[in-house]
Amino acid sequence: MPAGLPGFVCSASSNKNPAAAPEVPLAPSQTASHWLGKHCLAWGDYRRLSAQMNKNSYNIMALAPNTSNKRETVCIFGTGDFGRALGHKLIQSGYPVVFGSRNTQTSSLIPKDAEVLSHTEAAQKAAIIIIAIQRQHYSFLTSLAEILHGKVLVDVSNNLKINQYPESNAEYLAQLVPGAKVVKAFNTVSAWALQSGTLDASRQVFVCGDDMEAKQMVMDIVRALGLTPLDQGSLLAAQEIENYPLQLFPLWKFPILLSLGLVAFFFFYSLIRDVIYPYVYESEDFSFFIAISIPNQICPIVALILLALVYLPGVLAAIIQLYRGTKYSRFPDWLDKWMLCRKQLGLVALAFAFLHVLYTLVIPIRSFMRWRTSNQILSLALKNETEPLNMTNAWLSDSYLALGILGFSLFFLLGITSLPSVSNNVNWREFRFVQSKLGYLTLILCTAHTLVYGGNRFLSPSSYRWYLPNAYMLSLIVPCIVLVVKFVLIFPCLDKPLTRIRQGWERNPQYSDRSNYIINKSAV
Ligand code: NAP
Repeated sequence: MPAGLPGFVCSASSNKNPAAAPEVPLAPSQTASHWLGKHCLAWGDYRRLSAQMNKNSYNIMALAPNTSNKRETVCIFGTGDFGRALGHKLIQSGYPVVFGSRNTQTSSLIPKDAEVLSHTEAAQKAAIIIIAIQRQHYSFLTSLAEILHGKVLVDVSNNLKINQYPESNAEYLAQLVPGAKVVKAFNTVSAWALQSGTLDASRQVFVCGDDMEAKQMVMDIVRALGLTPLDQGSLLAAQEIENYPLQLFPLWKFPILLSLGLVAFFFFYSLIRDVIYPYVYESEDFSFFIAISIPNQICPIVALILLALVYLPGVLAAIIQLYRGTKYSRFPDWLDKWMLCRKQLGLVALAFAFLHVLYTLVIPIRSFMRWRTSNQILSLALKNETEPLNMTNAWLSDSYLALGILGFSLFFLLGITSLPSVSNNVNWREFRFVQSKLGYLTLILCTAHTLVYGGNRFLSPSSYRWYLPNAYMLSLIVPCIVLVVKFVLIFPCLDKPLTRIRQGWERNPQYSDRSNYIINKSAV
């Protein structure tokens, strides 16, 4: 992902590699034979080719049952929730399953095609043993060390707390049974998802282990279950894999805390300006502003600042790359983390923009607004006056609304394309176009919406209460900085070297710090 490509970006977008994308995209229902037939071959040739391809596909199909017949027996220690769910799924996928249990009596809960034996008997029947038991009960495995020698032990366990033990459960298992080949897998898949078949959200299975062959055997099982194995390396990675299911929205923490901080700041800021100030100087009670007026000020302000913060790290990354003259040097950690949570920042911003739309829609039915309108009409009637249409105000008001509507529509489009189900259906160029070009256009429209809302009030002294400018003026600082810097960066004298740097060119390759020679993923 280019550093300049902002962050409504879905991280798991493996099909976004332009090299992997076919030159002529095929709709899912189109096969290569259809395409060839339509575009390159005469009808007779096309039919012959289709027949040949169909014949080949029958041959491939015919292999499938034989392969499934060859599936090796898998042993599962533990007939608890996870052991049973995994056993059920393995049987469905054609694996003979044998359970090793303290209680060899079978029950209606245990899949009916599975055998239930003692741990010793069950272990003898399989080369792979899945340990579906809590870590605290692992100690009994030492007595089976001889039988388990040379076997593949799959550790599926999770803990209750992050870094609960000094070593990972998988490493602990390897210490208890040194002769076995321990592989960590399946801990991110829940028993419920296995049973109900709702594996969409958890299709990826992290796998790690020191023995390549053992790891490969486990990854084959993972694939046979219709899941996607992700090789995470040696058993040293097990601790991280075990911590993964215990993390609570790690990428959402920063955007949510930041938005809460901004909401708190702007709430007190608006309270001072719009409620306390009139009360002190004009003895007017506007405390009811807390319900709608102030939230309707805060929501667009927070949305605009967060949207600008989605694009700011890309701009900072570009400046850093230009300064260093290379992309092969790591960004500071804070910038890396910031880049990773841009999608979440954008979605939180969209939520605030959506709230702003809802608050705006209720304005006409507010009692305060109806009172103010009728008061203005009455005072004009009493004075027997009419007010001519102020063309400047009419233009400002209509432009402000039009910019808001357009900005919100594009904002919504950005949010939708960040969803994996949508982003997986567009190619890399389309994805870049929406997230980068349309993203900046959204920022321009939303900033213009706020600027036009300010209209001619920016320089009016009455806008400054206790020397405090209107809150929306503060919200323009970050977006304006981002847009101005971005504008400067598209000048050819900066854009050309930046493009070359992103294509791999280095200004001073001989001086690059080789220890830092790691391609920053965000910049690829
Ligand atoms: P569970 O329902 O508590 O079952 C654990 C099984 O371990 C028991 O049914 C029992 O089987 C066996 N066991 C209990 N005490 C034992 C002892 N002292 N000695 C030997 N065996 C003993 O737990 P679970 O939910 O199936 O989880 C099993 C493992 O999978 C855990 O490590 C868990 O972290 C992991 N996991 C679970 C899930 C999930 O969704 N549940 C998801 C991912 C990973 P027998 O009576 O047959 O001996």
